[in-house]
Amino acid sequence: MESICNICPRNCNINRTYKKGYCKATNDIKLAKAAPFFYEEPVVSGSNGTGAVFFSGCNLQCCYCQNYRISHELFGEIVTEDKFSDILLSLADKNVDSISLISPTIYVLQIVKALDKVRHKIKIPIIYNTSGYEKEDTVKLINDYIDVYLPDIKYMDPVSSMRYSNAADYFNYCSSAVKKMLELKPKLVYRESILTSGVLIRHLVLPGLYKDSINILDWIKNTINDLKAESLISIMSQYMPYYMSCNYPEINRKVTKYEYNKVLSKAKELHLEGFMQDNCSSSDSYVPDFNLEGII
Ligand code: SF4
Repeated sequence: MESICNICPRNCNINRTYKKGYCKATNDIKLAKAAPFFYEEPVVSGSNGTGAVFFSGCNLQCCYCQNYRISHELFGEIVTEDKFSDILLSLADKNVDSISLISPTIYVLQIVKALDKVRHKIKIPIIYNTSGYEKEDTVKLINDYIDVYLPDIKYMDPVSSMRYSNAADYFNYCSSAVKKMLELKPKLVYRESILTSGVLIRHLVLPGLYKDSINILDWIKNTINDLKAESLISIMSQYMPYYMSCNYPEINRKVTKYEYNKVLSKAKELHLEGFMQDNCSSSDSYVPDFNLEGII
């Protein structure tokens, strides 16, 4: 894989064989864990869990990332392309209800190669779980290989996305990518209670930014109406001030009940369908134990 990498909006324009990009990844596939995981939305986790593949590195690098051990610190183990394909197959054999590719954007080319070999053997939905910092072209590239998009929409406000994720253009890219996802998979399709095609948009409410959350919900409602698409939404209260949040006093705390309730009220007013975490969901239990399970 000798080509120049511009797969995400960071446009590093480098050859990852010789140099790491903003995402800290090379062309080698690096994984931190591949195992059943039970903390995703019920339409993804089902009763048997989702087979979660946690990739090392990330193109967004949020200062408060709960998975900083893999996104920032790059904990993980390099696996060959064949081993990666085997990992996907062995996860599917574990009686899980889906396979979740978590923060997959920076490895899209490697994922396509692996799925070219084994996709036909995997009979459960494959979920593309992304920060939303994506290019439309990357979405088009992966579309035939995956069943469900699970994008975050983290910010609309460019000042916040710049401050916490060094990406002033986050919403420009994310909104275009999510629109493309909704165009490509406009209907929610289920097998029993598991989502087998569609888009589930996630939003993590951040301290001090509930007005931005409300703007995001308005955008989602207008967009799905305009596109005549269906979508689920998942509103999350689980923010905890991890990693470098201590350097940003205004987010070095949990979200208050008042802030979270404001967002929930808006979602109800807009009749958005989906999942809403309890007020008190911030907890360490959502942070996976990155232990190379399923990798070595
Ligand atoms: S995937 Fe990584 S190397 Fe490629 S453009 Fe994005 S941040 Fe840069």
